[in-house]
Amino acid sequence: MIRTEDKLMMMPGPVEVPHRVLMAMAKPMINHRSKEFSAIYDECQKISADFFKTKADNISIISGSGTAGMEAAIGCLNNKSDKILAIDNGKFGQRFKKLAGKYGTVVPLEFEWGKSVDLAAVEEKLAAGDIKTIAMVHNESATAIKNPAPEIGALAKKYGAFFVLDVVSSLGGDDIRTDEWGVDIAVTGSQKCIAAPPGIAIVSANERALAEMENVTTRPYYLDLVAYNKSASKDLKETPYTPAVSLFYALQEALRIMNEEGLEKRIERHYLMTKAVRDAVTALGVEMFPQLNEVSAYSNTVSAMKAPAGINGEDIKKAMNKRGIIITGGQDELKGKIFRIGSMGATTPTNIMTTLAELEQVLCDMGVVDSPGAAMDIAGETMAKLYE
Ligand code: PLP
Repeated sequence: MIRTEDKLMMMPGPVEVPHRVLMAMAKPMINHRSKEFSAIYDECQKISADFFKTKADNISIISGSGTAGMEAAIGCLNNKSDKILAIDNGKFGQRFKKLAGKYGTVVPLEFEWGKSVDLAAVEEKLAAGDIKTIAMVHNESATAIKNPAPEIGALAKKYGAFFVLDVVSSLGGDDIRTDEWGVDIAVTGSQKCIAAPPGIAIVSANERALAEMENVTTRPYYLDLVAYNKSASKDLKETPYTPAVSLFYALQEALRIMNEEGLEKRIERHYLMTKAVRDAVTALGVEMFPQLNEVSAYSNTVSAMKAPAGINGEDIKKAMNKRGIIITGGQDELKGKIFRIGSMGATTPTNIMTTLAELEQVLCDMGVVDSPGAAMDIAGETMAKLYE
């Protein structure tokens, strides 16, 4: 999409929201315990199940951001004495660690932010025994690394652990195979690759996870997935508490748009746009931030670049913002060291080209690039298929 207002959102969420989705939110209120709402809930469940690649019909749609989904997953599955292996190689893995400490007994497994998950280290923790749940982020938006979900799923199976996977910044923009990978609970959010406004979390839980939740006495009240599932299993599907009806209108429209584009095409578009960013910045002499290993990959939906020597990443962000392109910097310990560009949701190749053209100019002004011109050619070549 091309925004006609003054700023272009190129962050790793929230992202630009298509006009159709914005307009959907302007519809009048309906009774949230009615046929009309039930139909919306049902359609959102069905389309999202296709994108989760799950046969589970226990998809809960919560009025709350992605973190609400993360908290629901961890809190509903674990009692305080249960050990949760929380894999932390970025800001959102760290969030799982904090949640695990609140609801269970956290067993942290930390990797320097920007580094990849080491499977041997994961297995060592599992072999030490007694891990009930593994929690990991699939697409670590803070560092732009894709973590090895299928491999961790296989380890979870081997050691009989539950597997909770955050797909907040990848569902709708990358291949998620919830059932095939052995993910017991997968969580996503509305404001990233789905391209709806922030405020909705979607949680897919399988039968095994739901059965286990019955044994958990400290499940959160508002975020109780058992209650969500019960309400969604009625003849008229509903939520336990009053949902953010306008956001459901938006979600329904955004999911319809995803369906119209189709899963494979949408993933390919995300892949090529993100690769175009990598190819272009690399040609400009900027280094990618992630340190990959044999089981990790560059994110399909966001790119993280090292700030060039002598330049503060925040200054790149500010200069881009002045040019009307909203990108982000690093979080916490990465502030100033990196800058990040999202290529999520309804973002178009044209949006990517515009962003790269402005970035090249910013880097030129900062003395990093000699003469602008190369980035767009390279990005255009990478994305050529999208123009066919
Ligand atoms: N997980 C990942 C990978 C994210 O990128 C984010 C948000 O940036 C979250 C979780 C948290 O989601 P929210 O900010 O919607 O609560």
